[in-house]
Amino acid sequence: MREFFFGLCYFCIRMKAMKKNITWNLQNTYASLPNCLYHLQKPSAVSQPKGLLWNGILANQLGLTSNLEAPEDWELYFSGNKLPEGASPLAQAYAGHQFGYFNRLGDGRALLLSEQVTADGTRFDLQLKGSGPTPYSRRGDGRATLRSMLREYLISEAMFSLGIPTTRSLAVVGTGDAVRREQVHPGAVLTRVATSHIRVGTFEFIHQFEDKEVLKQFFEYTAKRHESQSLADEQPVLSFFDRVMDKQIALIVHWMRVGFIHGVMNTDNMSISGETIDYGPCAFMNRYNPKTVFSSIDENGRYAFSQQAPIAHWNLMCLAETLLPLLHENLEIAVEMITPVLNTFPKRFETAWKTMMAHKIGLQEGDTAQALVTELLQWMHTHKADYTHTFLQLMYPLNIKDLIYVEPSFVNWREKWKKCVTEQNGGMEAAFQLMQSHNPCYIPRNALVEQALDDFHYRNDRSLFDRIAKILQQPYQLQDEAHFMMDSPDDESNYKTFCGT
Ligand code: AMP
Ligand code: MG
Repeated sequence: MREFFFGLCYFCIRMKAMKKNITWNLQNTYASLPNCLYHLQKPSAVSQPKGLLWNGILANQLGLTSNLEAPEDWELYFSGNKLPEGASPLAQAYAGHQFGYFNRLGDGRALLLSEQVTADGTRFDLQLKGSGPTPYSRRGDGRATLRSMLREYLISEAMFSLGIPTTRSLAVVGTGDAVRREQVHPGAVLTRVATSHIRVGTFEFIHQFEDKEVLKQFFEYTAKRHESQSLADEQPVLSFFDRVMDKQIALIVHWMRVGFIHGVMNTDNMSISGETIDYGPCAFMNRYNPKTVFSSIDENGRYAFSQQAPIAHWNLMCLAETLLPLLHENLEIAVEMITPVLNTFPKRFETAWKTMMAHKIGLQEGDTAQALVTELLQWMHTHKADYTHTFLQLMYPLNIKDLIYVEPSFVNWREKWKKCVTEQNGGMEAAFQLMQSHNPCYIPRNALVEQALDDFHYRNDRSLFDRIAKILQQPYQLQDEAHFMMDSPDDESNYKTFCGT
């Protein structure tokens, strides 16, 4: 017994000794911007940092580690209790239109730790979320609940695996401190990774409160970071705006493809990089209904599933307004310059959406495909069909057993669809390939996500969380052991999500 005990201790000590240090390659370019744009601030220490989730694959991609093991002292670094050498943490200032109303905001519970530069020169923000109060906290406590950080980790990583631009999650560390909301919750810090945290709201902040010189510097910084090609164009500001619009359109089309509802598309939650950001009240639609809203505070359906494109357009209008001073001294001329670009949004979105929807049924875009798509969406709506299942039914009819798919209304549609597919170049095989890359087999099903979070949170049982996270790493592959993820919930009309808890 004694030998076993000492053997075990030796093994543990060796394992600890083998743990590698993190290879930081940090820069703090944001801190070189005018200091009205941020507040230099250190994270507030937490009582008992306890590492809960470590994303080894992402850590490798960032060049922080070279294997999947969690490195030395990661709980300390990613709770904010220890600062990496060379980091200059700061809270970013921003503003934003929240449900249509302008507010002064800023990182109230997050800090940009530093920027990690990878071997190929790509720059990533490392941000601690839930790291304590900042001057922008207003009445908030600067903290985050474990449950909401686990949710962000699971869903943002699922979005990444679905091939959708998104901020990512590197780590979740429990704090050992209580967070008071309506109830008392355990707290946690999430490390969020993004190509930047520059928001439409960051531009709005400068436009509203700072001068043209700051705007000019910030524009150049952002353009260099995200749309560097625009700087070589004849009209860099218009070109930048056009490119940002392209990315937003691509993003929303992806959301519409998988049934994702962001839930709080305020301008401070729209990233210039075109990445999905801020996983507060987001959720996935099960039964198809374009009016679906899950967010408890979105009473008027401003951010409903089908509203996401018009809202992105509205948010881009807010961005356009901030760029006017850079376009021309005469405001009217500036408006005349940017309006035609802004007005291209609806047509561009429609074209991209139509192509995506045609691909979801394995067809090339055209009138025939559109007629079929329109009919199918109407059918789904009337029959309250599951959005994910309906497309999968075309690919794997034996796996999706819902009785609505043997109803004549669907069978007739299916026959028409089959005829078009067979007449198309490449036939069913080509169609299948197209469908496979557009239709996920697995999405984070709301009810399952909630159950996994409850198990993790209340019962300290992470088995379901880990299982779901693993399946969602390959969402386009049918997986034998993943039948339970296929179920479509009966009715989710009472399902509610909450902001920033
Ligand atoms: P969000 O709803 O996450 O987009 O946040 C909107 C604003 O509220 C941002 O300025 C956040 O930093 C701030 N905020 C959200 N939660 C907290 C909190 N617990 N403490 C301080 N500020 C917060
Ligand atoms: Mg936000």
